[in-house]
Amino acid sequence: MKTKPPPTRPSAVSIRQQRYRLRMEEAGYRRATLWLHNYSEQQGFERGLSGEKFLPVPEGLDQLSYCTGWFQGAGEQQMPIFCTCCQNQIGHGIARDHYDLITMRPYELICAECEPLIDAEKRKGL
Ligand SMILES: [Zn+2]
Repeated sequence: MKTKPPPTRPSAVSIRQQRYRLRMEEAGYRRATLWLHNYSEQQGFERGLSGEKFLPVPEGLDQLSYCTGWFQGAGEQQMPIFCTCCQNQIGHGIARDHYDLITMRPYELICAECEPLIDAEKRKGL
């Protein structure tokens, strides 16, 4: 039986991978393999997309896979965007750009009409 002889020196690719690994470890990361269950992830995605609550994870589903899917789905969700000041709806957008996905609360956004009013208030305060 013929076997391939071991390489005499490491290839450019393995040197690059080794350097990348060291950089990541220095930055506080560790490498791990995750097994994601497709069905559980898909269930999470659909529930996130349709605006259902994050918890509890439905029984019988893999929790990590479900959570991964939920965050992806919730981020894709189209949500109304409201002005934090006057509460008027500014428009629509995908959730990941306008909402904190953990709390599902909108980030602070100020409409074009309120902006000059807030600026004037700030100037008065100085
Ligand atoms: Zn406003």
